[in-house]
Order: sequence, then C-alpha cells, then structure tokens
Amino acid sequence: MNFHPVVRALGYTLLTLAIAAVVWLFGSAHAAWATLVLGLLLQLAYHLRQWIALERWARNPSPATELVGSGVWSEPFAHLYRHERDLRRQIAYWQEELARFGAAGQALTVGAIIVGEGWRIEWCNRMAEQQLGLNQQTDIGEPITHLVRQPLFLNYLTAGDFAAPLQMRSERAGDALLSVHVIAYGKKRQLIQITDITQTERVDQMRRDFVANVSHELRTPLTVLHGFIETLRELDLNPEERNHYLGIMAEQSDRMQRIVQELLLLSTMEAAPPPPTDERINMTSLLDKLRRDAEALSNGQHQVELIQGCHADLFGSEGEITSALSNLVSNAVRYTPAGGSIRIHWSSSAEGAEFAVEDTGIGIDPAHIPRLTERFYRVDRGRSRESGGTGLGLAIVKHAITRHQASLHIHSKPGQGSCFAVRFPAARVAL
Ligand code: ADP
Repeated sequence: MNFHPVVRALGYTLLTLAIAAVVWLFGSAHAAWATLVLGLLLQLAYHLRQWIALERWARNPSPATELVGSGVWSEPFAHLYRHERDLRRQIAYWQEELARFGAAGQALTVGAIIVGEGWRIEWCNRMAEQQLGLNQQTDIGEPITHLVRQPLFLNYLTAGDFAAPLQMRSERAGDALLSVHVIAYGKKRQLIQITDITQTERVDQMRRDFVANVSHELRTPLTVLHGFIETLRELDLNPEERNHYLGIMAEQSDRMQRIVQELLLLSTMEAAPPPPTDERINMTSLLDKLRRDAEALSNGQHQVELIQGCHADLFGSEGEITSALSNLVSNAVRYTPAGGSIRIHWSSSAEGAEFAVEDTGIGIDPAHIPRLTERFYRVDRGRSRESGGTGLGLAIVKHAITRHQASLHIHSKPGQGSCFAVRFPAARVAL
C-alpha cells in the first residue's frame, strides 16, 4: 500500500512508541525510555541527513546533479528537482527567444532606440549607432539628450509633439538626411525610429526637377507656336510670309514631337522587361547603317569612317541598341564643325566588345562630363537646340546600355574632340 509520506513518518514514530511500550511491558521503564530515545534519535539522524543533502543541492541547484531523497523525502525532492529543471528549460527558451529578437533588431535597416524615463537609452541597434554616433557598449543608461547634441533633435524631443517626424542631417553618417519618429509605448517608454531618407529625397528632387524641365522644354516651342498663330490670325500676310511662318511653326511642333517621343522611349525602357539574351543583333549591318546615317546627317561636311575591327555581334534588344548607338553617332556629327572627321570603331576582346565614336568636334569641359547623361542636361543649350537636340539623347544611351550591362566611357578635350565608348560584357557578345 502506498501511504502519504506524512502518514508514513507518523507511522515510524508510532512504531517506535509501540516497541518502547512492549519493552516496558516485558522489561523495565528504563529500557523502554532508552528504546524510545534511541528510536527517535535514529529518525532525527535520518531526517538530518536528508536535510543536509537538500541544503547542499539548494546552494547550487543544477539539473545536472539530481536531487535524490529516500523514504518520506523522495517525493518532495523529486518535485523540487523537476520544478528546477523545468524552470531552467523555460529560462533557456526565453533567453534564446530574446537573443533572436535582439538579433532581428540589430539587423534592421532602420535605426531603433528604446528610451525610458529621462530619455535614458535602454537599447539601440547598430544602424542607430552609425546614424547618431552612439555606442551600445558605453551609452546604455545614458540620456540620449546628452549624447546627441544637435539643436534640432533636442528641440524636437523637448517640445514633445511627435505627430510629424523630424527631418535632420546626420553629423555622422556622411551628411545623410534622417527622418526621426518618436513612438510612445508601454509604461513611459519610447521607441525612436530613424530612417535614412537621403535616397527618397534625391528621387523626389529629381522628379520635381524633371517635371520643371519638361514643362520648360515644351513651353518654349509652345510660346513660339502661340505667337505665330496670333500673327497668322491678325495680320494680312502675303503667301511668302505665311509660308515662312508656317515653316517655323512646323519646326517647333517637330521639336515638341521629338521631345515627347524621346520621353516616351525612356519611360517604355523603364517599364520594359530586361532585354533578351538570345536575340542576335547583326552588328555588321547596324554599323553600316550608322555610317550611312552619319553621312546623311553630315551632308558631305565631314569625313566619316567606319573601322570594323571584328565581326562580333551582340545579344540584346536591336531597337534599344540602335537608338543608343545612333544617338552617339548623331551627336558626333552635330557637335563637330564642318571639315572635321568622325570615326566609328567596333572591336572585341576576351573581356567583351567596344563600340566607340571619335570626333574632332568642339569637345566638352571635364566639369560637365559626369552630368551629361542626366535628362535635359546640355553644355550649351542654344547650340543643342540649333542642331535639333532635346537634351535626352545621352540619357537614352545610358539607359539602353545599362539594361545590357554595358558601360559608357567619355573622353573629351575642349576644342579638340571627344570619344564616347560603350563597353559590352562578354556575356552580351556573340562571336
Ligand atoms: P542633345 O540633344 O543636347 O545633344 P544629349 O543628351 O545627346 O543632348 O547630349 C547632352 C549634351 O552633351 C549636349 O547638349 C552636348 O553639350 C554634349 N555632347 C554630347 N555629345 C557631344 C559630342 N560628341 N561633342 C561635344 N559635346 C557633346
């Protein structure tokens, strides 16, 4: 039978009393007392041994050393041991979870700082360290207001109105533009979230500039057209004058049409899937066409030469490559005064293939070169317009060749000429 431990302990005491009583009956009172005392002392010694084992284990309770008791102590010891082991398991589990969340917080691409009362930092991630120059080792527990001293930031925190984020320049992360959000949560805790918006701001600025540029570019020919329509309406002109004005109007509407067409081409390329890698562009016939186009545009005013050093072809979109290379060739003709020469080169090597157009034209000041592929960027607006330029040609070139993993290299000397080279990687070259 399985009795409750307390009943069993009482049982042992009663048994001792019973033995003492028997000794009294058949022996003497002294012997009975001696038996009773001995029995109780034995029981006390037994309990003391168990207590010492418990005390030793409790000093350093570890699931590795099992707590084993005997008799009435075995069950409570087993419970205690199991409880300790479960507790340890739970602690290990939560430690792992905490480490996982901590690692996720560290991996965030936005800066995150948890602050408590008095803006004291309780936790921050690596991105916040870089953005604000904090240190996770030394700055925990310090008020953030003592560490980040930018007046804009301090005023924002002390004003306490966090409905709109604060935008400020980082003094640490290369002048990056940061957007700071303060989000209150829990008991007197705030999460400061810092997002780097440099790129978004740049794209926004580009979009604003682009809209302004397009409006400006279209407004000029529109104003001219509008003026001539008024003139034709109001003045009684002879057929010769009328034809002259209509000619100018046609020129302006052509110009607007070219701008719109080129803008559409750019936006089509932006939205289009990557160019094919298995469609072969016949370079020999494309180069020949480019040479003939250059001669037609030059109208005999330049010497045009094609130096075809190889018969390699390209894989890609024929339309995009044709428009990129024709733009380079037509620029060479348009920016080279009469009497100059234009050379078209095509060559290949183990690294890939190179298309280059060399001219002996007006050249470009080095300061302008990095910006030439921006939309509507022109060194000399008047000259570009006179020769029928829209300022979008090199933007198209850059876009089309980048889609083919190629790169544009520009070398130029003012007054001496320019060389525009497009380098295609070996993967795009068909031998
Ligand atoms: P545009 O329609 O004005 O020619 P592009 O984008 O094709 O526009 O070229 C941008 C600017 O780069 C031109 O306005 C011109 O100032 C300069 N440029 C391009 N190609 C040449 C060249 N071969 N020689 C001199 N300048 C050039």
